[in-house]
Amino acid sequence: MSASIQVKGLRKVYHMGKEKIIALNHVDLEIEEGEICCLFGTSGSGKSTLLNMLAGLEKPTKGSIKIKNERVDLLDETSLATFRQKYIGFVFQSYNLIPSLTALENVSLPLIFQGMPRVKREKRAKEMLRAVGLKGRMKHKPKEMSGGQQQRVSIARAFVNRPTILFADEPTGNLDTHTTIEVMEMIRSIAREYNQTLIIVSHDPEIADYADRIITLIDGNIHKIEVKKGEEKEIVYEIKE
Ligand code: ADP
Ligand code: MG
Repeated sequence: MSASIQVKGLRKVYHMGKEKIIALNHVDLEIEEGEICCLFGTSGSGKSTLLNMLAGLEKPTKGSIKIKNERVDLLDETSLATFRQKYIGFVFQSYNLIPSLTALENVSLPLIFQGMPRVKREKRAKEMLRAVGLKGRMKHKPKEMSGGQQQRVSIARAFVNRPTILFADEPTGNLDTHTTIEVMEMIRSIAREYNQTLIIVSHDPEIADYADRIITLIDGNIHKIEVKKGEEKEIVYEIKE
């Protein structure tokens, strides 16, 4: 398998007045195509910072990020926007749906930006909503749905233009255990069907268990990388104390 994402010497420093916050110290990693990867660690370990840089939402202080052989850290805003539209999907903890739009309209939105004709995009959006079990909620607005249903809509929206890579930051953070399992199974099954690469940020070991590759962060450094082989987890990298 080929590497979908390659990161070398990644560092991110924030400046707050005189204080210097090293959110990521020095990160090297590779994620393979079609892999489900979890960026795992406690709050403040640097997971979201890493995800945001991989997705091109923030620029690193140092280091390089290659996605599909493109140096995303070097792209300007315009090229980044095009790159994201072509390859990337997002799921956020807070759903980020547009309150005034129905489920169907929310899911259709990325396809409008893509310039797909109306009939085709409605068909695709409906298919996607059916795939996430929301056949009966097409005309509902976000506030007319439960948290779990809203997250399904946001998953349908993230997958609707068949992104090569899907990023999810604590996607089940606001959901109960039962709904979390449903949502994770759904994300995994859609990703597997289209051989999409999935990068999930979580502090929850049960979510990490869904991943083929678990990258554990501590204080802005990679502490451990585990790769699942069947039922076994093989440690492929670990910092020795
Ligand atoms: P996680 O997602 O693992 O909880 P984050 O990546 O959000 O952690 O944050 C890592 C560290 O960087 C934390 O100490 C956090 O306070 C700090 N940090 C994150 N974003 C910013 C920012 N925009 N400005 C200043 N500090 C930040
Ligand atoms: Mg976070």
